[in-house]
Amino acid sequence: PPEALKENALSGASRALRADLKRLEEMFTVTDKQLKQITEQFIKELEKGLSNGGGNIPMNITWVLGFPSGNEQGKFLTLDMGGTNLRVCEVVLTDVRGEFQVTQSECRMPDELKSGTPDQLWGFIAGCIGDFVEQHHLSPEQPSGKLPLAFTFSYPVTQLSIRQGILQRWTKDFDIDGIEGHDVVPQLEAALKERNIPVKVVALVNDTTGALVASAYSNSEVKIGSILSTGCNAAYMEECSSVAKMKGDGVPGCTPVAINTEYGAFDNEHKVLPLTSFDCAIDESSPRPGQQTYEKMVAGLYMGELLRLVLLDLHDRDELFQDQDVLRLRQDHVVDCAFLAKIEEGTVEDISKAFNDMLGIKPSAQELLVGRYLAELIVTRAARLYACGIAAICKKKNIRSCRVGVDGSVFNNYSLFRERAAQALREILDWPEDCEALVTLHSAEDGSGVGAALIAAIGLERLKGKQD
Ligand code: BGC
Ligand code: MG
Repeated sequence: PPEALKENALSGASRALRADLKRLEEMFTVTDKQLKQITEQFIKELEKGLSNGGGNIPMNITWVLGFPSGNEQGKFLTLDMGGTNLRVCEVVLTDVRGEFQVTQSECRMPDELKSGTPDQLWGFIAGCIGDFVEQHHLSPEQPSGKLPLAFTFSYPVTQLSIRQGILQRWTKDFDIDGIEGHDVVPQLEAALKERNIPVKVVALVNDTTGALVASAYSNSEVKIGSILSTGCNAAYMEECSSVAKMKGDGVPGCTPVAINTEYGAFDNEHKVLPLTSFDCAIDESSPRPGQQTYEKMVAGLYMGELLRLVLLDLHDRDELFQDQDVLRLRQDHVVDCAFLAKIEEGTVEDISKAFNDMLGIKPSAQELLVGRYLAELIVTRAARLYACGIAAICKKKNIRSCRVGVDGSVFNNYSLFRERAAQALREILDWPEDCEALVTLHSAEDGSGVGAALIAAIGLERLKGKQD
């Protein structure tokens, strides 16, 4: 239990450390009342994003007009450019309703690409697609002469159609010049053409939209798709008539359209989020200061960094790891979210090994407990804030009960995160303790594979309908 954990971390600590832990606890605790205030502000910002003027939250129109019927067919290549890995698949949607086959290959994206040139990025990606096409002896059908590709590109883009995406800004610490403000599809296609790879992009998809569509395909109770991984975001369906900035666009007002909220940008104006000096430090040292305020408090890329900064601060105050070499701890981003999961959920031996392997530090038994307690504070705050975004969509749409399809390494690998987010949802949405949860978080189905292929299939069907 947290209280016992806290007592153990405190007993044996010096007076100064005890006082600092108390101060940190106050900084990182988000009360029930605050959660509700944050959620109310969140609803306002979601609405503002849909209006003509726009706001912090982009509320991007995806051109995914409705859920799959289950009768979608076809063979598609899919590409997932996440923050860390690159995955290429071939997805076959068969003529048996709801059945599909997936062949895949995955590779790690070299870190240097994140701050390299566009040619390096697109060249690397095109190369991976080319290898896949060759390995699996794929050849395009006539007359198009090209293999259709659904590209999951998980960054905020402006889409004027399903096969376009003008990058609004990089997130997740990507920093490549010459892509923001441009459509990424022709850039990728040029790199493919240069290498004579017969592939054509037919759909550009966000990971949240993919998660929404794939999850709703297998369970009709799913109304929200979300990612909690390196970054954090969610998508849901809105009626076209509620999206003022969609203007007529020839789509009947009652048609549903998936909105990729890009709500990592929530509260960029710093109205309600309880920012700490550590959050500000993370923001200032990021490639895009002032952006993604919410995401920087919630997502996996930043939780480890928060713990690192707090530990370092305590060391610099002479309260932790006094006689240890903290050279590694001084390196940006050496602590990842998996480290937090390990020290919260592992045995004392696991925690000790994690500190040693990752940071070259041999903590005392008491320091281990302090580390674990700090991880708990940081992750609990993230999980509670994460719940606000989901609750805001539910409240805005009057959804009283639904399933949320969530994908991402943090969600899938951190059970305490999931439990804390579920508890926070209960507090925000005011279910009595004896009432079962009405909005529930579940691991999403494969969004960037099956989800992206379904989106491509729906898009092509629609195009055909238009031409007939
Ligand atoms: C991106 C979103 C994405 C999320 C999760 C954010 O940084 O802006 O497009 O859905 O990360 O991958
Ligand atoms: Mg991903």
